[in-house]
Parts: sequence; structure tokens; C-alpha cells
Amino acid sequence: MSENLLLEFINRFPADRSAPFLTEYDGSDVSFADLLNRTGRYASVLAGHGVVKGDRVAVQVDKSSDVIALYLACLQLGAIHLPLNTAYTGDEIAYFLGDAAPRVFVCRPDRFETSQTLAGQNDVAAVLTLGTKGDGSLNDEAASAAARTDIADVTSDDIAAILYTSGTTGRSKGAMLSHGNLTSNALTLHKAWGFKPDDVLLHALPLFHTHGLFVAVNIMLLNGGKIILLSKFDADDVIERLPKSTVLMGVPTFYTRLLAHPGFDRDVVSNMRLFVSGSAPLLAETHDQFFERTGLKILERYGMTETCMNTSNPLDGERRPGAVGPTLPGIEARVCDKDGNILPHGEIGVLEVRGPNVFKGYWQMPEKTASEFRADGFFITGDLATLGDDGYVTIVGRDKDLIISGGFNVYPKEVEEIIGDYAEVGEIAVFGLPHPDFGEAVAAVIVPASASGFDEQEIIKRTQDKLAKFKVPKRIWTIDELPRNTMGKVQKAQLRTKYAETFKGGKN
Ligand code: ATP
Ligand code: MG
Repeated sequence: MSENLLLEFINRFPADRSAPFLTEYDGSDVSFADLLNRTGRYASVLAGHGVVKGDRVAVQVDKSSDVIALYLACLQLGAIHLPLNTAYTGDEIAYFLGDAAPRVFVCRPDRFETSQTLAGQNDVAAVLTLGTKGDGSLNDEAASAAARTDIADVTSDDIAAILYTSGTTGRSKGAMLSHGNLTSNALTLHKAWGFKPDDVLLHALPLFHTHGLFVAVNIMLLNGGKIILLSKFDADDVIERLPKSTVLMGVPTFYTRLLAHPGFDRDVVSNMRLFVSGSAPLLAETHDQFFERTGLKILERYGMTETCMNTSNPLDGERRPGAVGPTLPGIEARVCDKDGNILPHGEIGVLEVRGPNVFKGYWQMPEKTASEFRADGFFITGDLATLGDDGYVTIVGRDKDLIISGGFNVYPKEVEEIIGDYAEVGEIAVFGLPHPDFGEAVAAVIVPASASGFDEQEIIKRTQDKLAKFKVPKRIWTIDELPRNTMGKVQKAQLRTKYAETFKGGKN
């Protein structure tokens, strides 16, 4: 029997296909019948352009239910869905088209000409456009195509999607996710987070990242509806729709922005049963403030493009601020030193995971893939963590962000938490810079809490009372806003490059 993820979804669709699946940003409703019909038509159009099982279909279009139908069309054909960040520019797209060698590239109507040029340079057979509903050539062709109903025969190991990592630590890598990976993840999360037929998910995340697509959308495809789609996160829009929703999946910046909004209170969330946070660390302070304001505890979970979700705080049970919870069912985790020796509970090391969620490897990077897996199948996440004897995992940071100053390890998160608590500090990011004596020195950027700013020397002095000297920033710069990507991840590599020059020699 085919192990196509699409079958898993369709088997759980409501018997009455006129039931609503999603509400678009403009308020129009999309039924399961609409969604399936569009899926079948897109599959026909793609097949007409020669797309067969295993071919990549690259997609860079604005957020709408069309993106979901296109994703399902790829599944139907056994083709590989390859979503790209909508912020990528021409040069970046050229890289991804060259790397992934898709058969078809689906782009926004206003990018058609540039995309054709890029496609021509990269042997992409066809460029199609997809605009908002009813606009653009894929929709035009689909209007005249008969909907395909056959669903490709695939095994659970066949690749369903290639998703590029966020590029936080270097060039994005294409993670190959199988039908089995996505199926087991969706089923596990659907159960762990207690989804019921009457849930309504408010969707403010992008559809080109694992969180918005393979977590949020897949769960709702299994759940029989219903999504309220927002084109992006906007606190006013979210607050307006929360009373009609039951679940919100977000990144930490969603929560800090909601908390900064005067209209965000208990009344607004009275219909909500679950707020999920992930993709970047949620500060314990945000968790606590959210609880004070709403009476609800954010459920923090941890995952990555390569593995979808690894751990989650429990639905029932302790949602521990600062921790990402125990591993999800079927997933094993251990904390090791760099040689792979398992460390005792509570010690900091690199987190390794194994389970049906773990991807099939990096696209076109067999050596990189081999170096990130242990012989016994554990994947080396690159995240530093502790594992408590109660099974709770706490993420300490990325191993690439670890600062080694004078031979001592400095975990930026520890410093960020201490200084982040000072009244004059709005936000802070701590990172390492090359230093002639210490190898690396601790540096920080701070977004001041108010226009009166902060006194750098005073902060350094105060921190010396709380932290060993080698952990105290040698320099602190003011910054208007932390550099973050679309998922709210702080781009520390950018900070290191930007401030290395100013800091040179460690003398200033
Ligand atoms: P790249 O791998 O290209 O450098 P990236 O790691 O940011 O980019 P993603 O796969 O989108 O790309 O992000 C996964 C990473 O996000 C994890 O490895 C982890 O560092 C971080 N992350 C996700 N959830 C959490 C969380 N709850 N707490 C702390 N960090 C998290
Ligand atoms: Mg990564």
C-alpha cells in the first residue's frame, strides 16, 4: 500500500467535503472540496510540464491556500515540494535553483521575468506564476485542466520535501524529509497537543518553514480543518482573530509583540486553549509575563528543519519556563561530548536525537550528512543542551555560538539572561569576537528599554558582581533592533562580522 502522506490526510478529511478547511486573509472560505479540486488541477498542470515522481518543484510565492494546494499536488505526484523563503532575492534564488535543480519553479507574477532568466541559467524546464487566488498562469492553466485523482505510489522513505535550513549558522542546507518523516511528525504532534475537531488554528507563520507548514498545516490537515490564515504576523490582526481561534503557533517575537500591545488581555484569549512557541528560545521572562497577563502558559517546543519536532513541554503537566520539555513519543535524545560519549544528566553537551522524525540527509551533501550522524543513527543537532533526570531538555545555545574565552566556555544565554533582566535593557544578544590574548572575548549588543539608553561601564561593573570575569562583556554596543530573520532568530554571525572590525585588537 502506498505510504503517501496525502492519503493519510485524505483519509481523515470530513465526509462532508463542503466543510470549511481554511479562511483566507480576505475572509473567503476554502472548503475541503475546493482544496482537493485545486490540488488535483495543480497536479495535472505540473504533470503536463513533465513533473514526475522525485522531481523537485521549487515554490516562492505569497502566502495563501494556493501554497497548500500546490504542496498537496506535489505529494500527489510523488514530486518533491521545495518551498523557498519569500524574502530571497534574485542572487539567492539563483543559488537554490542551481543547487536543487527543480523541474518547475513557481514564482510570484511580478517576478516572472527575472525568474525566467534565472531558470534559463539553471536548466529549470518551466516557470509558472501563482499570485493571489484566481490570478496567474498556474491558476489559468489549472482552470482548464481536469483534476487528477490518482495518488502516486510511494514508500515512507521516499522524499516528500526538501526544506532549506534557515541559514543562521552558514549557508542553508537542503534537508530531505520523507513521507514517513512528515507523517510520523504530524500524527505525533496532533496527538501530543490534543487536537479536537472543533479546534481553530490562527496561522500567522510563513508557509516556507517547517513550523508553519509541516507542523501547523499538517496537523490541521489531519484534524479536519480549520485554519484562519493571516498573510503575516500583525499584532492587531492577531488580536482581532484570537476570539474566534483556539490555537496559535508562534515564534517568541510574536509573544513579545502581543505583550507590548495594550489590547492584549484575558478577554481576548478567553476562547484560546493553546499557545505554542518554537523556532527560537522563549525567554523565561516572556513566559512568565504571558502567564501574568493571560492566565495561560505558553507551551514551548523544540525542533529543527532536519527533524521537525524533537521535544515538547506537555499539554498536561509542567510547562517549564526556559526548558523545551521531554522528547516526543518515539524520539530518543542524549547529550554527548564531541566524541559522542554520553554525558551524565545535567551536564552541558551537544544534543543528539534519533527517531522516525529524523531526515534522510542533506540534499547533494553526502559528506556533510555522514559527518552529522553517529554510526548508531543518532543525528547531531549542533545545539548545546542539558537533559535532566526527569527527561526535560533545556537548550543552552548553539555549539557554533559558544564563546571560548581564555580557554573557558561562555554560554551566551547565561549572560543574556542576567543582563537582559536589567531595567534599562530591552533586548540583548551576546556573541564572541576574536581577541589577541583570550582567543575570543565576550561582546554584546543591547536595544535600550527607553530613549535614555544605558551606561556601558555601569552595566559591565554590575555584571562583574554576578558573573566570573571571563563571562562579562568586554564591549557593549547600542543597537536599534536585533538582526533577526523571518522566524525571529537572532543572526549572530552577522553581529560577529559587523563588530569584529570595530573591536579589532580588543583595544577599544
Ligand atoms: P542553519 O541550520 O542553516 O544554521 P537554523 O538552525 O536556524 O539554520 P532551523 O532548522 O530553522 O535553521 O532552526 C533550527 C534551530 O532553531 C535549532 O537547531 C535550534 O538552534 C533553534 N530552535 C528551535 N526551537 C528552539 C527552542 N524552542 N529553543 C531554542 N532554540 C530553538
Ligand atoms: Mg540548523
